[in-house]
Amino acid sequence: MSKFWSSIVTRTEPYIPGEQINDPSIIKLNTNENPYPPSDSVENAIKDELGGNLKRYPSPTVDSLRETIAENYHVGKESIFVGNGSDEILGFSFMAFFEPGKTIRFPNISYSFYPVYAKLFNIPFDEVNVNSDFSLDPSAFFESDGGVIFPNPNAPTGILLSLSAVESIIVQNRNQVVIIDEAYIDFARETAVPLVAKYPNLLVIQTTSKSRSLAGLRVGYAIGHPDLIEGLNRIKNSFNSYTLDRLAIVGANAALLDKSYYEAITRKIIQTREWISKELTQLGFHVLPSQANFVFASHKKVTAINLYTLLKQNGILVRHFNQEPIDNYLRITIGSNTEMKLFMERLKRILRKNT
Ligand code: PMP
Repeated sequence: MSKFWSSIVTRTEPYIPGEQINDPSIIKLNTNENPYPPSDSVENAIKDELGGNLKRYPSPTVDSLRETIAENYHVGKESIFVGNGSDEILGFSFMAFFEPGKTIRFPNISYSFYPVYAKLFNIPFDEVNVNSDFSLDPSAFFESDGGVIFPNPNAPTGILLSLSAVESIIVQNRNQVVIIDEAYIDFARETAVPLVAKYPNLLVIQTTSKSRSLAGLRVGYAIGHPDLIEGLNRIKNSFNSYTLDRLAIVGANAALLDKSYYEAITRKIIQTREWISKELTQLGFHVLPSQANFVFASHKKVTAINLYTLLKQNGILVRHFNQEPIDNYLRITIGSNTEMKLFMERLKRILRKNT
């Protein structure tokens, strides 16, 4: 702490992101990145842009990319906001739609960034307990004072809340904004975006980091009523009217246009997820029913922290959260088939030695 810090910095907690390591010999299953590369069209678009206009500022309104997203979802481009990863849009949304003095709600087990933003912007929050099977109880989010935010599928559990339950939360919060963080929705395919046309209080946030293999490019987007998008634009323009750089704009645009490539790798990841979930269950894990590109699992005999350490010693990095009641679970990102076969081999060896 420094005596020069403002009260904003003082009340902010340091956020600890997942470990980012560059050792190619490590099988990295800890931050839900896509194991497959982006489509060739992304590289081509970025190369073209590199040969062209980097001396010029990018478009502050990013019309090309917003039009592509709008067409994908059959909405107008005035319903689309783009930002530097969905994290940035989440931060802007807390500022634009949540109020100091009005309590918002999110699940007690969900994306660990929400309490960090809430504290930063002085927004009181209730962490709503999840059910004993880790699913969400929609009625616990009805009639909030200041708004609601949750990931769907939830992270780090991977559990999906049905679209009808999502809709009931939006309906029962008509005077507050409900934000659905759909970072993993392409692995579940039950997006709430069609509800945007019906409900002016709904903001859906998605990302190119997961299903589009572009975590390194940092492009997220939000879909909502034009008035909500205008609120986000005011925040954005006050901080940095150019939040997306030229390479990110053309790369994300190329990815979002190349549907067949991404549908194919998404299908592969879903198949691997189903296979891994069965295998882990046979090995004595309790595995939550995941609709995301990761599984959340707890072994009946070996503690999660021991398994995390033993896997790491064997060249495999997974995610462990030191937080009750999930401290005996591991979040395992679905890697390529080759990576997951190696993961299973090494895990079986570890379990033979330790049970
Ligand atoms: N929401 C959730 C639920 C996440 O797990 C993540 C990834 N850590 C994000 C948002 C942020 O994704 P990005 O900023 O890469 O778009």
